[in-house]
Amino acid sequence: MSSILTSDLLARIRATGARRLSLQFPEGLKRQAFPVARALRAEGYDVIISGDPCYGACDLAEDTLAFADVLVHFGHAPVEDRDGVIYEYVRYDFDPAVVEAVIPLLRETEVGLVTTIQHAHLIDDIAGVLESHGITAVIRDGAPRAPFRGQVLGCSFEAAKRTGAREVLFVGTGVFHPIGIRLATGARVVAFDPVTGTAGEVDADALLRRRFAQIEKARDAASTGIILSTKTGQARREEARRLLGLREGAFCITLREVSPDALLNLGFGCYVNTACPRLAYDDQVRFPVPVLSPPEYEIVCGVRDWDDYQIDEIR
Ligand code: SF4
Repeated sequence: MSSILTSDLLARIRATGARRLSLQFPEGLKRQAFPVARALRAEGYDVIISGDPCYGACDLAEDTLAFADVLVHFGHAPVEDRDGVIYEYVRYDFDPAVVEAVIPLLRETEVGLVTTIQHAHLIDDIAGVLESHGITAVIRDGAPRAPFRGQVLGCSFEAAKRTGAREVLFVGTGVFHPIGIRLATGARVVAFDPVTGTAGEVDADALLRRRFAQIEKARDAASTGIILSTKTGQARREEARRLLGLREGAFCITLREVSPDALLNLGFGCYVNTACPRLAYDDQVRFPVPVLSPPEYEIVCGVRDWDDYQIDEIR
């Protein structure tokens, strides 16, 4: 049996009474599709695999439910409850003692502690390591779309904000989450990557400089497209409607995949992204024109000051 098709998951599938299953995997797990599908077929199920890109539980392949009784979504915890969907997130284990490497970088005796879904099951063990060094870890629930204690997403830093701490320790990979935490909380942020063992203080200034340049460019745009995602957990209709009202001459554009080609072909002078917030921050270099976050567009429209810069989150 494939390692991510556990007996627990099989029991949850059996409990639904489904006979036809669709399977969805994020890009990093797509190579698991064949062994998992083969194992489920051997258990007597009809199986279909979603081959479309998938970056989060906000992007459910609900179209495959036309061919299946239940969708099994691998890799992420739910961002919202959906009928007919089983979520199977993947845990990444490491020895919590490796977090000791970060102790010399911490300045406070009380720190907020946050992580991503892959390590959320270890958060109390990590807190124990900090506490053995006289540091109290503050762990808080996040927003409903991040259901585990201390869990942050690239679109939700609520668990970090609720700690109220002056210093936050982020345990996880990549630079986007800790930069987002820094901007969302204003706290000093130290990031520790348990895969590489590297640790460091986070600096958001480079991102802010890049975003400032895009905001200035967008001021001269003759036309504005407000992007409204059609993905299940990214479709912010109310937000798109609110943004449309900020300035005359803007139009709402529905998109499933926000790609450079799609934006180039539409030909607008700038776009405002209400889909996954990371698109504007991570992918700007690929886009032909400025793609602003909603708070950045508010700055262009004169309803928010640059001093009140805010990272975009889905609430
Ligand atoms: S909206 Fe973006 S950051 Fe949020 S869960 Fe989806 S892919 Fe992740």
